[in-house]
Amino acid sequence: MKADRDLIIIGGGGAGLAAAQYAARANLSPLLLEELATGGQALIIDRLENYPGFPEAIPGTELTRLFEEQAVRFGTEIKYTGVQKLTWSDGLFTAHTDDGPLTSLAVILATGAKHRTLGVPGEKEYAGKGVSYCATCDGPFFKGQPMVVVGGGDAACDETAYLAHLSDSVLMLHRRDRLRAQKALAERTLTNPHIQVRFNTELKEIRGNAKVQEVLLLDNKTGKTVAQKTSAVFVFVGSIPQTRVIEGLGVKLDQGGYVETDQRMQTSLRGLFAAGDVRATPFRQLIVAAGEGAIAAHTAAQYIDELKGDAYR
Ligand code: NAP
Repeated sequence: MKADRDLIIIGGGGAGLAAAQYAARANLSPLLLEELATGGQALIIDRLENYPGFPEAIPGTELTRLFEEQAVRFGTEIKYTGVQKLTWSDGLFTAHTDDGPLTSLAVILATGAKHRTLGVPGEKEYAGKGVSYCATCDGPFFKGQPMVVVGGGDAACDETAYLAHLSDSVLMLHRRDRLRAQKALAERTLTNPHIQVRFNTELKEIRGNAKVQEVLLLDNKTGKTVAQKTSAVFVFVGSIPQTRVIEGLGVKLDQGGYVETDQRMQTSLRGLFAAGDVRATPFRQLIVAAGEGAIAAHTAAQYIDELKGDAYR
């Protein structure tokens, strides 16, 4: 079995970079394939407050730089290319990239998850014209102006806190009567004087001219609708696992489409491991993604040793 590489890692977020560092230290010379930029979701986090070891908080971009530097220092090669498809035949995986096929004995899938959209009228039309999915990227365009945030989870609370530094009029809408976010984040959101949280409220339509001007809101308790003036709509309503590249491999997914693994990150296809937000995991956090990446690399190393007859028994 002659492969280009022992191990290919697809995706350069927290899980992929941690897997790369551990795999490199296990002498696997991993190749990490990343389409755009390393860092994944951490890239859009202005202040990471809960990553252990950084009591003063650290920008996601800086933590990404450190993750990458460490992975590369131990021997990871990072190649910037899109992966269209992963296939498997006779014990070899082939990553079909924009720059041609690359084969490996094992693969760690660390492709993460992408933001979900609301699917309401006006959302597509005003994307980039007031509708955004990233507060740190687009918030500064609306400095001092009224903004609306949709969502009740950790991401919505984190991003709303960032927006509240830019405007004293941030309206957060949540469809239920309490926030889903972790208690500390929820508490901070509810007590921020620049943030107004409106519960039992659904955003039904985004309207404007060349740019967003107002949103139509439904109070799902009373059934009443009201129009609300705003310059921007920030949407943080969860994520969709990025599993397109493994379509056709028959890998077991859960009901939400996340990849199922055992506790060693082995998927239902031997030699294919998954880590981070793409995996069916109970708690999507950077620390968890990094931990899963480390486990995936460790298990992949053992698998490769077994294939080569080098396993320590
Ligand atoms: P999430 O936890 O799934 O929350 C999504 C929120 O959006 C929920 O409150 C949900 O409402 C709401 N929602 C979903 N579809 C909606 C729709 N069509 N209309 C209106 N509201 C809708 O997603 P997330 O906040 O993006 O977080 C994803 C993962 O990343 C989580 O595991 C989270 O812990 C993690 N994360 C952690 C941090 C941090 O620790 N600082 C920061 C960001 C993300 P319901 O509650 O009614 O379902």
